[in-house]
Amino acid sequence: MKICAGSAADHSAFVALLNAACGQDSNKFLTDYGGVISCGFKGDIYIPDSNEECYRLLSSVDSSDLLTYRGSGHSMHGRSIPSTRNRLLVTSSLRQVHFQEPGLITVQAGVQIGVLEEFLNRLGWHLPVLPDAIKAGPTVAGYFLAGGFGSRSEEYGGFWENVDSLICCHPSHSPPTRVHHTDDLFWELSGSGGSLDCFISELNLIIKPLDVSRIYPVGFTASLPTLQSDTTKNIVWFTLFVPLTDQKQLFRKYKSVLSDLSKVLHLVSPRRARIRFLTRYPLFLSEFSVDLLAFSVGGIFRNGSVQCAATACQIVRDLADSVPTSVQYHPSELVLEDLRARAHVY
Ligand SMILES: Cc1cc2nc3c(=O)[nH]c(=O)nc-3n(C[C@H](O)[C@H](O)[C@H](O)COP(=O)(O)OP(=O)(O)OC[C@H]3O[C@@H](n4cnc5c(N)ncnc54)[C@H](O)[C@@H]3O)c2cc1C
Repeated sequence: MKICAGSAADHSAFVALLNAACGQDSNKFLTDYGGVISCGFKGDIYIPDSNEECYRLLSSVDSSDLLTYRGSGHSMHGRSIPSTRNRLLVTSSLRQVHFQEPGLITVQAGVQIGVLEEFLNRLGWHLPVLPDAIKAGPTVAGYFLAGGFGSRSEEYGGFWENVDSLICCHPSHSPPTRVHHTDDLFWELSGSGGSLDCFISELNLIIKPLDVSRIYPVGFTASLPTLQSDTTKNIVWFTLFVPLTDQKQLFRKYKSVLSDLSKVLHLVSPRRARIRFLTRYPLFLSEFSVDLLAFSVGGIFRNGSVQCAATACQIVRDLADSVPTSVQYHPSELVLEDLRARAHVY
């Protein structure tokens, strides 16, 4: 396990590396993809090489001693940024993939989902669902906790439908536990944005064949590389979910807020992903049992100020309120409450 004590001379080099992984450039303030919330973090950084090291670290933590988890830092709500003196557990060295029975792999939390897809493609397999248009970015645990949809969701549902089980661990008070797709905790964790104090060490993922003639490498284990973010201008996204029947109403309302939004964001075209309803939705979407549209409004902040982000959050919230059946991705994306709670450390 690599440990960088807060007092060490190379602390700022570690902070710079963590920021670079989400396209940010600072060795002074630790931030995330949005760059809106940041902290002059001085605490210890832990980068475990194995699940066992994570469990030992978690069992040594007492409840007053806060530990923050971080994958690639591609979320924007600030929960991957510890406050000044807390400790940080980074999953970037948990990068193993192991082939179980055909169609099932075990993947450690820190494997980047785009890297995994490329690796599987070379072996004649693919992930059913992955984020659109990002290769160097979200880890599998981050995508389960704070993402979960992409263009293939129209066929295969959310990422949550393609995770068979995972292992999670609460600091100090319990041994690592396997949580299955059928367990309520699975659906509370998925899409929670990492708001539950529960560390995920690995996930069992369902994969699909690209080429049925290829031999499946049962029992094979590989360690995958990390790809650095190649982003220089971070496009931030705000997502609303709506039943397909109400999508036109949402587009109309979106058009009516375009001019206000464009004052704070250099807008790009919105992204749309249809999500097929299969068995269940994560807790924050549990009122639905129909196919949904994930409508993501995106752009680059005109300036990095908290005020600019707050205005964008308010417009997106008003948009969600104007379409009664829409639900914002509030646990996982930047919302006003996050700014109020965390932007003071800026
Ligand atoms: C450009 C861009 C495009 C995107 N496109 C899509 C898309 O098409 N579809 C989609 O669904 N999502 C998309 N996302 C959202 C993305 O999936 C999430 O932001 C995801 O959380 C990023 O993963 P990460 O590893 O960077 O997580 P982080 O940002 O590091 O962490 C997210 C949260 O999970 C917690 N966490 C991280 N790892 C663990 C762990 N092992 N155990 C417990 N808690 C943990 C952190 O504390 C934090 O609260 C996109 C994001 C960006 C920046």
